[in-house]
Amino acid sequence: MPQTTLDNLKVIQQRIENACRKANREANEVKLLLATKTVDANRIKTVIEKGETLIGENKIQEIKQKYDNLKNISHQKHFIGHLQSNKIKEILKYDISCIQSLDRISLAEKLQKRLETEDKTINAFIQVNTSAEESKFGIPPNEAINLAKEFASFDRIYIKGLMTIGLFSAEAEKVRACFKLLRSIQQEIIAQNIPNIEMKELSMGMSSDLEIAIEEGATIIRIGTAIFGERIYPDSYYWNEKNTIR
Ligand SMILES: *Cc1c(COP(=O)(O)O)cnc(C)c1O
Repeated sequence: MPQTTLDNLKVIQQRIENACRKANREANEVKLLLATKTVDANRIKTVIEKGETLIGENKIQEIKQKYDNLKNISHQKHFIGHLQSNKIKEILKYDISCIQSLDRISLAEKLQKRLETEDKTINAFIQVNTSAEESKFGIPPNEAINLAKEFASFDRIYIKGLMTIGLFSAEAEKVRACFKLLRSIQQEIIAQNIPNIEMKELSMGMSSDLEIAIEEGATIIRIGTAIFGERIYPDSYYWNEKNTIR
């Protein structure tokens, strides 16, 4: 199993390199985030040992389970799942460096308060729902700029960019439209020159669409399946609050 994982990793690294070359970008402009939901700590370690240091988790329960096993190996952890307000206190216990799924003002308010209490700061991305699918979280594209302006007042939360999950479609141009939209929102926010709001990062692109995302300017691609294999849970379990699988 670990050997397959590492073979897969090489294939992904090659795909990133090829996509960057095609898009006239440097390979180091695109960071690989390992989407490690359902992957046990030992398998994550084998990949970190190969020099990949950025992982993303969707569920606090899983972060907690893997925490002790991973804490002595140097890596960075992003939260990429839907975050419920009542989990904020919990999430701050596990050295998360960035919450990629900030998508509402009420969440940011509570996060700010808690960060004040603990005298901490955190990086965050604004998650935008670029595919207009109801099952996905994120703010509607037309609200992104206003939300960015509101987030500017939270001095413990450093907004660094935007995140989206593209449309699941075999039609590349429809997927591309999602990534183009995220980039155009990024450009609009940059043009507004909002204090405290940085917009360098675009987290977009997964196993099936990373090439398109890189062409459209992704700085972080989030890869699970193509490295770790198919998951036994459907993604709706991670992306939809109304899931029933336990
Ligand atoms: C699981 C997940 C990914 C990775 O998806 P794959 O198709 O398995 O590469 C990326 N982003 C988010 C938010 C995820 O939950």
